[in-house]
Amino acid sequence: MQSLTILGSTGSIGTSTLDVVGRHPDKYRIFALTANKQVDLLYKQCIQFNPVYAVLLDDGAAVKLRALLREAGLKTEVLCGVDALEAVSSLPEVDTVMAAIVGAAGLRPTLAAAHAGKKILLANKETLVMAGNVFMDAVRESGSALLPIDSEHNAIFQALPHDYKGDMAGSGVARILLTASGGPFRTTPLENLQQVTPDQACRHPNWTMGRKISVDSASMMNKGLEVIEARWLFNVDACDIQVVIHPQSVIHSLVEYIDGSVIAQLGNPDMRTPIAYGLAYPHRIDSGVASLDLFKIARLDFAEPDFARFPCLALAYQALRAGGSAPAVLNAANEVAVAAFLDHEISFLSVARVIESVLTSMPVHDVACLDDVLEADASARCAANQQVERLRL
Ligand code: NAD
Ligand code: MG
Repeated sequence: MQSLTILGSTGSIGTSTLDVVGRHPDKYRIFALTANKQVDLLYKQCIQFNPVYAVLLDDGAAVKLRALLREAGLKTEVLCGVDALEAVSSLPEVDTVMAAIVGAAGLRPTLAAAHAGKKILLANKETLVMAGNVFMDAVRESGSALLPIDSEHNAIFQALPHDYKGDMAGSGVARILLTASGGPFRTTPLENLQQVTPDQACRHPNWTMGRKISVDSASMMNKGLEVIEARWLFNVDACDIQVVIHPQSVIHSLVEYIDGSVIAQLGNPDMRTPIAYGLAYPHRIDSGVASLDLFKIARLDFAEPDFARFPCLALAYQALRAGGSAPAVLNAANEVAVAAFLDHEISFLSVARVIESVLTSMPVHDVACLDDVLEADASARCAANQQVERLRL
């Protein structure tokens, strides 16, 4: 029986994880569920899964949940705050941590799981973007098993040799082909992008996701973050990763070997597949995902990415090449800009403008520990907020 903490259980990845877990009550038991402030959904999840702990970031929300659970006669203990998120990620009773908080808020609890040597199912790509070396060092030192949940990285993980240890050349790997749907604006002309609304940006053609990652997909920053994520997960350089536009999102990514073989992982665009893979690794379990109907799909298309219409992708490559604190700065500026766009404060095209000006104006520092990351994050947020003021609609 695996004992599981789900960080961000009320989100898109969190609810999909509970869907898979609910199909296998003989294999998985929920130790802790956590959310920002969604009391009602977390309450329902507690009733269904009866965790030992429920954690809310928000104080008032925790008080409400505690009252509701007491009324329902449940023994689940309700905690609140970041320290509690770290605790439920590292307590000895936990085997596996699903890291599915969105954004930089996921960093501290995910890092705590790594220090504690937990099996980590990593959806929170921002952890690797912000603190790639710090996080990977913690994983190595503690002997954590790290399983990528992001569909592309899960596909790459499946297509790499089973004993892959980060030696691309030694494993005969020529390059990684990272697929991207192109998002809702794949074919939208640049002049029309100025006017697009948050709701349009969140209407992804293939995936249902949280609003932040949906906007990232629309700007293709999501793919940029994923290039950085791949750099750390698989120990590859920026030049070893080719982004391939593939609108159907059926091929989740590919690995090319030096003999010309290209191994891909395919499936319906449903996050329950990589989640089930991570949960059961190295075995396979039913995920509830429908069988892939190739006759219905009929064709698969591919194209090169358009860096002129999607400058965020180029900015991510720029940050990766600059190294040090640059990816943390990129991530922070993106989070501030995306939140401002979702709040109708800046236009869609201004998201890239905010990031570019913050990235080019801030010095690149070495990153050796969590504090270095948090410092870069805080100063980039400050600079990004100033840019948002300048570009405010
Ligand atoms: P979401 O917005 O649907 O859910 C986010 C979860 O995090 C919620 O449970 C929310 O309560 C919690 N949360 C938000 N802010 C918090 C804070 N400050 N402190 C503590 N908890 C907080 O997001 P999502 O789409 O499920 O994405 C989660 C992560 O997984 C992101 O890093 C995203 O990039 C990654 N990811 C998502 C998908 C997908 O299909 N949704 C695919 C690949 C990767
Ligand atoms: Mg992805």
